[in-house]
Amino acid sequence: MNITELARILKIPTQELRDKLPRLGFDIGQKAIKIDNRTANKIISQWNDLIKQLEIQEQKEKGKNDMEEEKIETKKEIKIPSFITVRNFAQIADLPVNQVLSELMKNSIFSSLNEKIDFETAAIIGADLGLEVKLDEKLDTQIDQQDKLKDLLKQEKQSDLQPRPPVIVVMGHVDHGKTKLLDAIRKTDVVAGEAGGITQHIGAYQVKRRNKIITFIDTPGHEAFTAMRSRGAKIADIAILVVAADDGVKPQTIEAFRIIEAAKLPYVVAINKIDKPEANVDKTKQELSNQLKINPEDWGGKTICAPISAKQGTGIENLLDMVLLIADMEADKIKANPHTSAFGTVIESRVDKGEGAIATVLIQNGTLKIGDSLCLRNNLYGKVKALKDYFGQNITKAIPGMPAKIIGLKVAPVVGDVLEVGAGKKIKIKKIKTGLKEQIIKKTNSEEDSKIKKINLIIKSDVLGSGEAIEESLAKIEIPEIKINIIKKGLGNITEGDITQAEASQAQTIGFNVKIPTAVEDLARDKNVTVKLYNIIYELINDIKKQIQELVEPEIERVDLGKVKVLAIFRTESNSQIIGGKVIKDTVEQNSFIEVIRDKQIIETGKLAKLQSGKQDVNIVEEGQECGIRYEGKPVIKEGDVLQFWKEEKIIKKI
Ligand code: GDP
Repeated sequence: MNITELARILKIPTQELRDKLPRLGFDIGQKAIKIDNRTANKIISQWNDLIKQLEIQEQKEKGKNDMEEEKIETKKEIKIPSFITVRNFAQIADLPVNQVLSELMKNSIFSSLNEKIDFETAAIIGADLGLEVKLDEKLDTQIDQQDKLKDLLKQEKQSDLQPRPPVIVVMGHVDHGKTKLLDAIRKTDVVAGEAGGITQHIGAYQVKRRNKIITFIDTPGHEAFTAMRSRGAKIADIAILVVAADDGVKPQTIEAFRIIEAAKLPYVVAINKIDKPEANVDKTKQELSNQLKINPEDWGGKTICAPISAKQGTGIENLLDMVLLIADMEADKIKANPHTSAFGTVIESRVDKGEGAIATVLIQNGTLKIGDSLCLRNNLYGKVKALKDYFGQNITKAIPGMPAKIIGLKVAPVVGDVLEVGAGKKIKIKKIKTGLKEQIIKKTNSEEDSKIKKINLIIKSDVLGSGEAIEESLAKIEIPEIKINIIKKGLGNITEGDITQAEASQAQTIGFNVKIPTAVEDLARDKNVTVKLYNIIYELINDIKKQIQELVEPEIERVDLGKVKVLAIFRTESNSQIIGGKVIKDTVEQNSFIEVIRDKQIIETGKLAKLQSGKQDVNIVEEGQECGIRYEGKPVIKEGDVLQFWKEEKIIKKI
């Protein structure tokens, strides 16, 4: 078989095949034109495996080279502040974020891109990544949004600072009872009861216990806190880590604990579901101690572990007392100046049909009043037209520690944004509006959309960090004609709801480090929904890449074949010529296009209609041989011209 033929079968350019074969153990020589059929068949049948082996080998070699280079190179030095987000660290280190994330994972730190790591952590993973990481405290003074409050409070006179309600966040593994606990706490509040209960959900509420007010962040799925991890978890003063006594420490328990640690948040552990017969408080404590080095108070440690049943309401008041105890210990930090202009973090934001942009802000300093102008990063966001508390009742002002719904903003801010009272410069609403319009147009432009092939995904992962790492890797696959749509992402095992949603949105369900219960698996089979489980991100991404590869239309590419020197013109007709020539380079083949070259200029292009060698029709003529050619096209060919043969080949774009 001819090498060009083999290359075509394998769908790779001939030269690449020539280069690769010796590395695959087939030493046929750079100039070889033919390859015996047995070897060719062997190569064809084993091609995929061979290529994979070669890739592994190349990667290993690359690794070795990199290591050698690293050894020779003096370590690159970077300077970072005491705390830095993973994203910024990657930027400064000039490394792909994924590499940083996976290095963190190797050290059991499941971080998201916007999560901050401290200098020590950065230095350890930096060393593994071949960097010399130095602390530059000067960088600490370059405050960003999340440090603004700290800075602002520093500027306040000590005498102006007054105690404010502590802000509590509830964290823990999915299904361990966060929502139930928040409901149970809400029910303990007599004030709320008297006022007829909370009618409107605004993402946070306050309860009174022993005459002290406590603020709870209560966002569905508690994702607001997640979004705000980027702001350094500055919003909460204390965390409640919920662990179900029948289930113990789970991946999101670990992740939540890491966040609490990174944010240096004081916390209590609520050991929930103690009403269940299978609950085992001691075992749970053992797991906390073994896996997280959390040492319970009653075991001689420092951590308060409060047993509760959110369902039955047992232990809730004691838990609140523990929260108050911690708040007392932290009292010098839980302060704000109520007599200044307000400053707060957005915990919920949406656009309401009637009311327009609505945001719930947790006031962190100052008092927010009706009529105040609010701005975000010096851009005016609008005036406070009305304020509502967590009961949905109109209020005229909101003081520190209080969540308040703001009506009157011109633009909906993003959860985690820090709004402050001030003039700011007017944002060009017009521009933003057109931006929105464009977005809407884009969305409704289904005609354009339909040309783009979509891969819809529902992604479930064990912890946020891995989910975000997957998303980040998927975002990197940029193929214009294919769109990866993440319909839904979530934590925990694959549920029936995921399958129903996957069916409705024609999505495939992907699980990372999670399981699928048998009943759900059966449902997926019934509904014909693809479910794939992984525990290695690389494999997941590769599978998606493979799918994309199958969807990508091949590109037509010109492949140059050999050249023929024209020795004689046998016949010339109105639209064809019969020519005699000699192959002077590579091989020429049937079904080719021909360029007529004279004085190094292409003067005409035509087609090959017939190829002969010694009066016989042949498919291929090789270098050095003479041949007869029937050329179709404008009959311009003269003796001495050179004919360049070429073909069109479908090339599959490699993802
Ligand atoms: P979240 O995902 O952490 O918000 O968990 P949920 O609050 O939604 O609770 C998950 C499930 O556990 C629900 O079915 C709750 O009714 C149940 N649950 C929560 N707390 C308790 C408890 O103290 N005892 C019992 N038996 N079930 C509970």
